[in-house]
Amino acid sequence: MSQELGIPQVSTGDIFRKNIAEETKLGIEANKYISKGDLVPDDITVPMLEERLKCEDAKCGAILDGFPRTIEQAEKLDEMLSNMGKKVDLVVNLVTPKEEIIERMLTRIVCTNQDCKTTYNTKLNPPKQEGICDKCGAPLKQRSDDSDPEAIKRRLEVYEEKTSPLTGYYEEKGILQTETVSQKINRMGIDVAKDLVEKLKK
Ligand code: AMP
Repeated sequence: MSQELGIPQVSTGDIFRKNIAEETKLGIEANKYISKGDLVPDDITVPMLEERLKCEDAKCGAILDGFPRTIEQAEKLDEMLSNMGKKVDLVVNLVTPKEEIIERMLTRIVCTNQDCKTTYNTKLNPPKQEGICDKCGAPLKQRSDDSDPEAIKRRLEVYEEKTSPLTGYYEEKGILQTETVSQKINRMGIDVAKDLVEKLKK
């Protein structure tokens, strides 16, 4: 979507992982929460996101991934965008059965090259050569929070408690699009992405 629409994908999780890999102060602090499956506090996450959105490449928009995760973050996002003369145009809520989410976390592997970050799945979308990224040749590895059953459980609890209320927040604003993605109905994220690109390009 990012390539097709010419706007960056801004993933708070990716920014945290880059900082963790580089062992920055922010990364070390954020990892205390991420490793347990908890949300990183807003006083770290919100300014980090705001700084990213002010970058030149996000001037014409961005695809936010993993932010906002709470009603408070959504309110802060509205405020920060309004100060920039912008707004949230569309929110996509991807709904997948819980067992499938857990299975996909356990089989997900990601490229360790922080400028590549390509995601694979050992069952659904394996790399050509085991453990090596097709695109850049860097080693692939499992995310530490995907290999820990306790962290997975906590992430799902946090989603139910803190993130799921966001559907009501955006439904009220009339900008929510809910999509079921599941192997059971043969519709995956890539299919939604293709449809969205068509819709947004019109
Ligand atoms: P993700 O890559 O989106 O799955 O995020 C990985 C982890 O980073 C989450 O489990 C949280 O610990 C943290 N994280 C990512 N985005 C946020 C956010 N918007 N607010 C708080 N923590 C976040």
